[in-house]
Amino acid sequence: MAKASVSLTTYKNFIAGEWVESKSARRVANVNPANTEEILGEIVLSTREETRAAVEAAEKALPAWSETPAPVRGKIITKAAQLMEARKEELSRALTLEEGKTLAESRGELARGINCVDFAASEGRRLKGETIPSELPSNFCYTLRQPIGVVACITPWNFPICIPAWKIAPALVCGNTVVFKPATLTPWTATLLTEIFVEAGVPAGVLNLVLGGGGEVGDELVTNEKIRAISFTGSNEIGTKLYQQGAQRGIKCQCEMGGKNPILVLADADLALAAESTVTGAFGSTGQRCTATSRAIVVESIADEFLNLLLERAKKIVVGNGLETGTVMGPAVDKNQYETVLKYIEIGRKEGAELKLGGHPVKGEKHSNGYFVEPTIFDQVRPTMRIAQEEIFGPVLSLIRVKDFEEGLAVANGVKFGLSSAIYTNDASKIFRFIDRIETGITHVNSGTPGGEAQLPFGGIKATGVGAREMGSSAIEFWSELKTVYIDFTGRRREGNLY
Ligand code: NAP
Repeated sequence: MAKASVSLTTYKNFIAGEWVESKSARRVANVNPANTEEILGEIVLSTREETRAAVEAAEKALPAWSETPAPVRGKIITKAAQLMEARKEELSRALTLEEGKTLAESRGELARGINCVDFAASEGRRLKGETIPSELPSNFCYTLRQPIGVVACITPWNFPICIPAWKIAPALVCGNTVVFKPATLTPWTATLLTEIFVEAGVPAGVLNLVLGGGGEVGDELVTNEKIRAISFTGSNEIGTKLYQQGAQRGIKCQCEMGGKNPILVLADADLALAAESTVTGAFGSTGQRCTATSRAIVVESIADEFLNLLLERAKKIVVGNGLETGTVMGPAVDKNQYETVLKYIEIGRKEGAELKLGGHPVKGEKHSNGYFVEPTIFDQVRPTMRIAQEEIFGPVLSLIRVKDFEEGLAVANGVKFGLSSAIYTNDASKIFRFIDRIETGITHVNSGTPGGEAQLPFGGIKATGVGAREMGSSAIEFWSELKTVYIDFTGRRREGNLY
């Protein structure tokens, strides 16, 4: 292992209210993707037995936590939001070092994470059911929300604070106890987030953190009979398998997976604005956002002008270490992702797309130890090409030329994914037709594909998402069970129709 320049830590599990080091002998370095000589810490790949101990701790803590009034649970979660705010700079810095995004992007992720925790906390005072009129006299009918039980949150590396925060906070407010398995690539930020919930007053056993590989820790959570719900964000490959496993056990499952998000630019659009949003959406967070813009679908009559605007804007992107002032785009998260991006660029070339910008690793001494790839733009991409169909998850934008709105919409819908989309036009009828017919869970009019506010539902359709939406009040739908209650106060046997 290379020399550490930040204090070398062995990240611990948090089980039953104690920070405990895994007994496993398998260790992996936590590497700064902007400088691979910088080892931030080491992650121990925990065992199934340790995962089971976390599940058992969560099971033990369940009765007391589920009986704690929801507004009181919410107050603890409010405190967590306040602590995130107080430690925002520390968390943002750790996020940039560990994941590679720029400091400004890390601060943005923190801001969204805080909003999500804050919103979930406020739901503690609104964890309500409904009073519904009965068709029978003297019959009182209502619904109430109850906890599901012990639940698992399995999360990816690309938003390693925000995504766990938007899962864990509503899960806890609803009275569940949680086992949290973060991505192996981002143990540090997972540790800091867990610390915050603990400091906020989440009781022992209510939130447990287990670090380790998906094949072992993740699989144990998916197959453990005591886990009653799973919230997963990650790749399609893992998510669809996990959903099948969950369905077989008859448990609640939500899986948020990949995207191939289009931006449709029509002839009457404000082209400068559309180009700005396309570049930000494609290259922000190094394209490693599930909502990243990966396809610019542009009407032929303005395609040359639009491409020039894209190139002009994208050429100004400074690629480098996210901690350095002036950096606009950081590295790929690891060697695997870096090689995947370069592989797709090669596929695009071979498929006959025209490379207009980038296409290579970034050269130069400052970049030699990091996983830096140039912002890359392909023109003349055909909708059937692999670079137009498959999620690359890197700084690669495909420009697809179409004759009109109808063809653009068909191309936008012609992929298996359905997360986010955008249209740039001022034509009201096309805007509403697009909103009606675009096959994505989220859509934007005259703004870019990424982003989402804490109080609104977030998630996709088609191969992107299965199960209830995350964030907003729909998170409460997922994280609670609804009970329907009938109270007959006639005091006697009813006559007539009984269903
Ligand atoms: P991933 O490889 O699928 O991993 C996601 C999580 O699942 C990690 O914690 C991983 O652990 C774990 N895992 C792996 N194998 C498992 C198994 N057999 N059983 C249970 N858990 C298992 O995804 P990723 O590379 O971290 O994330 C990138 C993907 O996430 C992209 O496709 C992106 O589009 C998607 N994403 C979607 C959204 C959305 O809301 N739609 C948001 C963000 C990201 P290890 O880390 O140990 O492998």
